[in-house]
Amino acid sequence: MKPAAYVLLDFSAMQHNFSVVRQHAPQAKIIAVIKGNGYGHGLLRVAESLPKADAFAVARVDEGIRLRKAGVTKKIIVLEGFTFEDELSALINFQLDVLVHSPHQIAFLLRREEKKQLSVWLKLDTGMNRLGFKIAEFTQAYADLMRCPVLKKPINLMTHLASADDKNDPKTQAQIRLFTDTIGSLPGERSIANSAGILGWQDAITDWVRPGVMLYGISPFADVTAQQLNLKPVMSLHSRLIAVKRIAKHETVGYAGSWVAPYDTVLGVISIGYADGYPRTAKSGTPVLVNGQRVALIGRVSMDMITVDLQSQPHAKPGDPVVLWGENLPVEEIALLSQTIPYTLVCGITQRVRQFDSSWLT
Ligand SMILES: *Cc1c(COP(=O)(O)O)cnc(C)c1O
Repeated sequence: MKPAAYVLLDFSAMQHNFSVVRQHAPQAKIIAVIKGNGYGHGLLRVAESLPKADAFAVARVDEGIRLRKAGVTKKIIVLEGFTFEDELSALINFQLDVLVHSPHQIAFLLRREEKKQLSVWLKLDTGMNRLGFKIAEFTQAYADLMRCPVLKKPINLMTHLASADDKNDPKTQAQIRLFTDTIGSLPGERSIANSAGILGWQDAITDWVRPGVMLYGISPFADVTAQQLNLKPVMSLHSRLIAVKRIAKHETVGYAGSWVAPYDTVLGVISIGYADGYPRTAKSGTPVLVNGQRVALIGRVSMDMITVDLQSQPHAKPGDPVVLWGENLPVEEIALLSQTIPYTLVCGITQRVRQFDSSWLT
C-alpha cells in the first residue's frame, strides 16, 4: 500500500550538486554540512550518498556520535562544539572535531591531560554575532588553545558569513577581510564559505568550504534559481487527490471561509497538511502540481488536507498524483509564498511522512 503522503529523495541529484561545489572550489576540501537530519533528508542516508566529501559537519555532539556509530570514519566537525564535560569526553572518544567558540569551553579544555587527542577549529566572530570570539578576544583564545595538551596542532580557523546570500551587501567582503587580517599567517587551515559564499564570493573560498543547502539542490539566493546555478532538487514531496467536487460561485472553502469562489469551479482535496510539514502559511494561489500541471492552492492549509482549484482540470479524479514541491515546482517558490525560506520546508517534513530513495522505484 502506497502511503498518501511521501517524500522521494534523488541522491544522484545530490551527487550532481556535490560536483557543482567541486567546480566552484576545485582546490578546496569539502565539508558537507548535514546537520538538522541532513536538512530533513536523513542524516545517514545523506552521509552515505556523499562518498567524495572530505568531511561532514553537524551541529551537535549526538549527531556526530550517530554518524560514528553507523560506521562513518571521515572527519566530522561539530559546529556547536560542546557545553558540558561529558560532551567533551564524547568528542574525544568518538574522534569528532571540536569547534571552540567560547571561554567556557577553553576552561574545560585546559583541564584535560590527554595528549593530542582532539582536532580543533577556533571560531572567530567577524560580524555574524552568533558563535565565536570577537576580534579583540582572538589572540588570548588562540594562546590559550595552544596551551591545551588535548588539542592537536595546528589550530584550524573558521568564521561564518552573515549575509553572503545578498550579493550587494558589503558586509561579506568586510567579514572576509577581518578574518584574513586577524589570523594573518598563523598555521592551520581556514574555512569561511557556506553555499552562498561558494557560489557568490570567490574570496570566501579557502582551504575548506562548507556547503549545506546547495547540496540539496536549493539556491541560497532569493533572486537566482537553483536551475540557474545548475543545482538539481533532491527532495520531492508527493501526495494524491482524495476528493473532487463542484462548488458554485460565492461558496466559501475551508476554515474561516477564507476563500470565496469567484466563479463556479471544481475543487480538489489533497491529502497533505501542516502535520506533514506543508506550511500552514502557504497563501491562496500557491502552486501545486496535479497530474504534472500547476493548479492553485485555495483556502487555509489544514492539518491533513489542502484544497486546490481544479478549474483547469475538471476531469481530475481521486487518486491522481500530486507534487507539492520537487522537479518543476521548486521548494524555493513555495517558501516565498509562505513567508519562509526553503531550509525550513525541507527540515520540517514530519515523522509520519515516509521517505523513499527514488532509485528504488525505478
Ligand atoms: C549551516 C551552516 C553551514 C551551511 O550553510 P548553507 O547556507 O546551508 O550552505 C555552513 N557553516 C556553518 C557554521 C553552518 O552553521
